[in-house]
Amino acid sequence: PGTVDKIAAGEVVERPASVVKELVENALDAGASEITVEVDAGGTERIRVADDGIGMGEESVRKAVEQHTTSKLRDVSELDRGISTLGFRGEALYTIGAVSRLTITTKPRGGESGTKLTLAGGEVEGCDPAGCPEGTAVEVTDLFYNTPARKKYLKREPTEFDHVNTVVTRYALANPGVRFVLEHDGREVFSTTGQGDLQSTVLSIYGREVARAMVPIEGLAEGPLEDISGYVSDPETTRSGSTYISTYVNGRYVRSKAIRSAVVDAYGTQLAPDRYPFAVLDLAVPPGTVDVNVHPRKTEVRFGEEGAIRDQIEETVEEALLENGL
Ligand code: ADP
Ligand code: MG
Repeated sequence: PGTVDKIAAGEVVERPASVVKELVENALDAGASEITVEVDAGGTERIRVADDGIGMGEESVRKAVEQHTTSKLRDVSELDRGISTLGFRGEALYTIGAVSRLTITTKPRGGESGTKLTLAGGEVEGCDPAGCPEGTAVEVTDLFYNTPARKKYLKREPTEFDHVNTVVTRYALANPGVRFVLEHDGREVFSTTGQGDLQSTVLSIYGREVARAMVPIEGLAEGPLEDISGYVSDPETTRSGSTYISTYVNGRYVRSKAIRSAVVDAYGTQLAPDRYPFAVLDLAVPPGTVDVNVHPRKTEVRFGEEGAIRDQIEETVEEALLENGL
């Protein structure tokens, strides 16, 4: 890849967490039931995402790292729904490969043999048969080794790891039917069961104290939303930032100021100043009501009828808290 490509890559691959996001999305797209994410030094030294999905044959894996190649059929309506990841154009592996050393080890389901492909700075260095389990493991080391200007902007390792943790948490909460394992520097940070229920996923990620404090959201106040499901914590179980309010639209992670403030307002004066509850909420919205920015990194959304949706969420959460004597 030329300089221009590397600069472009540095803009979309902002940090280790952006790599993790793309690799986890690919694993989910591949139909994985188990995804293991390992990072070292906050992901600055090594990132490895392994899945038990459909895997790739030799020809497919060679293609996968080329520019503009995708095996996925997508239509415009998918973009409308806000599937805003750089992967939607078949760019992720190519782009990540351009700014790191990348190794893919993969074997198709039911396939005879596996393949190991290595890239450095976007150039294929090897592609050989390899013994490996069915599924795919992508390992990225030395991120930004060939783009020192980009590397300089990386934050301290704990901060980079926080971003990685946030991304993996977000996908794990949205996919309780998939087992996620997150390891940092060889130590397990969390692992979910993949048994399919949100409450046990919350328990695996946030621990017993938080899981016990979770109130299910059942019933929906009048308004434009078609459905809502999830949990919110009791007013005592809070944190000092809104990071623990995870919101999804039709199963896709989104950020929305309107939703965050609706959730907080539902607690009224029960919430101490500058404290935020835990919440995992999935909203079903009618098509065309979400205005998503198609920029690869933007997840902040706006709704049509934002005020009405906001009020509906506030009322719904308030009702759930009341029903639970809170
Ligand atoms: P996109 O996801 O938009 O197709 P990517 O660059 O992320 O673009 O991936 C390119 C292609 O590589 C995918 O279309 C898919 O065929 C293949 N691929 C990537 N990751 C995996 C994986 N974990 N399992 C199976 N196939 C994969
Ligand atoms: Mg992708």
